[in-house]
Amino acid sequence: MASNWVGELIYEGKAKRVYRVNNEFLVMEFKDEVTAFDGVRKEYAPGKGRLAAAQTAFFMRLLDKYGIRNHLVDWDGDRKILVRSLKMIPIEVIVRNYAYGSFLRRMPLVRPMTKFSRPLVEFHLKSDELHDPLITMDDIVEAGLASREQINEIVNTALSVNSILSELMISRGLVLVDFKLEFGVDKSNNVVLADELSGDTMRVLINGRHLDKELFRKGASAMDLVKAYEELNKLLGIP
Ligand code: 5GP
Repeated sequence: MASNWVGELIYEGKAKRVYRVNNEFLVMEFKDEVTAFDGVRKEYAPGKGRLAAAQTAFFMRLLDKYGIRNHLVDWDGDRKILVRSLKMIPIEVIVRNYAYGSFLRRMPLVRPMTKFSRPLVEFHLKSDELHDPLITMDDIVEAGLASREQINEIVNTALSVNSILSELMISRGLVLVDFKLEFGVDKSNNVVLADELSGDTMRVLINGRHLDKELFRKGASAMDLVKAYEELNKLLGIP
């Protein structure tokens, strides 16, 4: 199966390459690299690509079991996943259970790691140039990026993803602090969860210790990050 996944390189980002197989399918290849601070810090991270692909496949399959429509078709057991091609909505949807990261920078009145009374859902415009600014639901509608109905569906899906993942994490002694989702629209105009779900896109703690990319942002080496992803996968039973 994996050998059939050849296609033309159509996009190269900081953590992934995307290849077009045909009109319907894309291949996402997770790189053995880690970057932080908009690519300013970058290191070779052997094994990371496979670990992040495995995490994404595991979480997407789990969410599918709960009826959450997502783009995953298959995983090659290594660094690639086969996904459905979608028209991507250029926003990042962040769900937060605890105060951390950019939330604290814009709201210093709340103490770090305060548990929110209910999960927060927020939107950021995907733009490296503007550093992914926080935007409102009205901004999204007025810019024609998504309809109000689609945004409502995205919020509901994001909250369901949070419940499913938080429950799983709690059962393994982990705390899901926050995470980022991206969505696209398929040919039938359905909103579909897309992109990746991995240690690169979430903050997850064990006894206050990060098993996610925050380690690297805080100065740990790429090898330490790979070890943390191995630990996370072991705890979650990810192959
Ligand atoms: P924050 O907005 O606090 O920096 O990030 C909130 C959550 O979303 C974190 O789990 C973080 O990893 C994820 N996140 C936010 N922006 C990005 C991004 O541009 N790329 C990736 N991979 N994750 C992001």
